[in-house]
Amino acid sequence: MSTPQPDRPSKKGKKVRVAMRRNRNKPPRVSDWTRKARDAEDNDIDTSAREMVIAKGDLSRRRTIIVPEGELKHEEFLSGVVVSVHGLHLQVDDGARTVLCAVPRMLRTRMIEERHPVAVGDRVRFSLEKSMDGGEVTGVVQSVEPRRGQLQRQSDDRVHTVVANVDQAIIVSSADEPPPKPNLIDRYIVSALAGGITPVICMNKIDLDGDAFAARILARYATLGYAAFATSTRTGEGIDRLRTALKDKSSAVAGQSGVGKSSLLNAVQPGLGLKVGEVTRDTQKGRHTTTTATLVRLEFGGFVVDTPGIRAFELAQIDPRELEAYFIEFVPLVAKCKFPDCLHTHETGCAVKAAVDRGEIHSARYESYVRLFEEGCDNKRYATR
Ligand code: GDP
Ligand code: ZN
Repeated sequence: MSTPQPDRPSKKGKKVRVAMRRNRNKPPRVSDWTRKARDAEDNDIDTSAREMVIAKGDLSRRRTIIVPEGELKHEEFLSGVVVSVHGLHLQVDDGARTVLCAVPRMLRTRMIEERHPVAVGDRVRFSLEKSMDGGEVTGVVQSVEPRRGQLQRQSDDRVHTVVANVDQAIIVSSADEPPPKPNLIDRYIVSALAGGITPVICMNKIDLDGDAFAARILARYATLGYAAFATSTRTGEGIDRLRTALKDKSSAVAGQSGVGKSSLLNAVQPGLGLKVGEVTRDTQKGRHTTTTATLVRLEFGGFVVDTPGIRAFELAQIDPRELEAYFIEFVPLVAKCKFPDCLHTHETGCAVKAAVDRGEIHSARYESYVRLFEEGCDNKRYATR
């Protein structure tokens, strides 16, 4: 991740003002707000999302809308990465320190209208606001940059961005205790790809792979062209490889409980897995943060996001008709199927199924495809029939 550089106010500042005009819609009814707030409680929707349904009078709205650039105490904006979100405030890491920043209401409203409230991992530009008494330096967010990959979570029919600008998902499984589940690996790969995130396959506890079962699974993914390597926190195998994979990137760590994610993070940077543990304890106090992500800066460059809610990141539900695109070895074949709209499930003349029969596509990968396809068809959002 590059070091954030101070930046001049750009056109983006003005764009914000234009977009605000779209804010003049009907305020939601109070009863509606109450219901949504209650739903939010149930579904762990972040508090900034709840904020959107609080109706504000037009007057106050207009007042908060205008943030004249001339009034900024500093001409230059800084850029940084949102490392955590606490209701209406963000912690922003600008490379040198972490600054508590407020998000002006109008910016928040605009983002929510566009269905992406500011999330951990977003890159923002902000102005510094030195407090009058010389106390803590705080900031005001001026703009949010367009996102690259994002991890999303779905609750009911709403999609939430849990982490934005994730470069890669480190998909961790273990050679044993628990044994590897290829179907789960495939799910994580599909979710990552659907979110624009590069999957990286990490097979931990390779010290327990006496019969090389896990090594064979790993080889399958390497053959497909994915970065795939074995690690052991016991023997130290592959830890350098993992560190290299993490360096200067923003990574999410995904995988079943018990595969050794915390151990791996502690192996690459002592204390890292522990920090994550503290976040967990915090949530147990009943704070509304069970699915709140936190980015942790790596000493050797980069960020990882590893909180319980992310680890089990709800696998994005994919339109079954799009699924073939996320099975990389199917892609060159789909044009060869007899029917142009072939779903590769029951059709005759299917080039994908023929490749499975010839052993060119691994049957476990095809089974994963069929399972995900059927789940997608069961999902009311994507029901194809
Ligand atoms: P997490 O739930 O994915 O974060 O997994 P943990 O890091 O808590 O590890 C779960 C268990 O696996 C612990 O008892 C670890 O000591 C053990 N473990 C972690 N890495 C390895 C490894 O490379 N080899 C072996 N044999 N055990 C490991
Ligand atoms: Zn087909």
